[in-house]
Amino acid sequence: MSDSQTFTTPKLPGNDWPQMLPGWVWLVGAGPGDPGLLTIHAVNALSQADVIVHDALVAPDILSWARPEAEVIYAGKRGGKPSAKQRDISLQLVDLARMGKKVLRLKGGDPFVFGRGGEEGQTLVQHGVPIRIIPGISAGIGGLAYAGIPVTHRDVNQSVTFVTGHDQSGDTPGSLDWDAIARGSQVIVIYMGMKHLDRIRTALMDAGRPKDEPVAITSNATTPDQRVLETTLDTCVEDAARDSIDAPAIICVGRAVLMRQALDWQALAAGMQPRNTDPLGRGRPAEDR
Ligand code: SAH
Repeated sequence: MSDSQTFTTPKLPGNDWPQMLPGWVWLVGAGPGDPGLLTIHAVNALSQADVIVHDALVAPDILSWARPEAEVIYAGKRGGKPSAKQRDISLQLVDLARMGKKVLRLKGGDPFVFGRGGEEGQTLVQHGVPIRIIPGISAGIGGLAYAGIPVTHRDVNQSVTFVTGHDQSGDTPGSLDWDAIARGSQVIVIYMGMKHLDRIRTALMDAGRPKDEPVAITSNATTPDQRVLETTLDTCVEDAARDSIDAPAIICVGRAVLMRQALDWQALAAGMQPRNTDPLGRGRPAEDR
């Protein structure tokens, strides 16, 4: 964006920022991509860690904030790979901690949202390694916000369901009760859903969701490569293929997607007019309830 300016990390206020100690592992969320969406606790951790073990979804810009002497280890995992790899990552964290390192385990989004942070944390605890958890902005919330989609809106939904399109075997979660999800939640946010989008949309339509229900697919949300496809349930697979929208992508199903017609703030910042300032057709100003 044209309004960018140089940014220097602010001196953290106060003196009691947590210190990383040797032999500890901090499980830290890096947010969905834009380095500005890191928490200050995450920046504090980057400035101290001896070793950083990161995922594929952590932006290189963020790693450039590590100490120059820090060791950076890539522990990328892509959906569908054998689960043995997860075991290796967890045990590697234990080993690094036992070597007396200050270990930063940096994960995309929030470490506890479809990020296996719970499993890694549990392994560490089971091995007696002390941990700290630093949450991050999850793609299913912050990524959608960058697309101009509020995950909740009073005129749309009182609940939102976050779903993973993969289960442990890398397949569509057969264990998910799509009927219940379709009936129970006006807005459904799907992580890791691109591979099985066809099956997911069929399951949702079979469960009674309207064919023309709005769907947004946001890929590489919050990064310079962000792309947003606005589509509908029955055409989303074909539209995504046509536009080559690929993972990582977050899928939002529900009328909240319509709000983007008013709230696509990146388009507004680029000088475009809002497409529709009353996308839900309320017929009165937003501030009037
Ligand atoms: N812990 C992460 C989610 C990890 S699962 C979080 O809280 O965000 C990986 C999935 O997250 C991807 O398949 C995709 O669905 C979603 N995701 C992560 N980063 C994304 C991004 N920048 N844009 C779109 N989707 C993203």
